[in-house]
Amino acid sequence: MHEKNTIRTAMKRGLRCCCPHCGQGRLFQAYLKISDKCSVCDQDFSKADSADGPAFFIMFVVGFIIVIGVFIVERSYAPPLWVHAVLWGPLTFGLSFLLLQPFKGLWIAVQFYHRAEEARFSDGDHS
Ligand SMILES: [Zn+2]
Repeated sequence: MHEKNTIRTAMKRGLRCCCPHCGQGRLFQAYLKISDKCSVCDQDFSKADSADGPAFFIMFVVGFIIVIGVFIVERSYAPPLWVHAVLWGPLTFGLSFLLLQPFKGLWIAVQFYHRAEEARFSDGDHS
């Protein structure tokens, strides 16, 4: 049975990095490179542009997790400084790389659902 195209469905498909229209085709052709179109339903992704949005939110989410983790570990174990460097540096990069693609997929899916695209002037409307 074909799943109805709701915002919730589009968001789930985006988080899975799948086409927000059919949920079958892949949204990405490389780690952060969006495909030109869906390989299953031919949905055009040429207008999809997430800009800095996903990176901005990932920065907040990962930053929040890491800072809370640093406070908890420091308060509980008071480890030497090198432990923090070894623990939080790779965890920051790892979480960022892990979350960036699904979050970009989510971002594109929400744009797709709301038919968001870059604003354009029509001829004669701007003077
Ligand atoms: Zn598709």
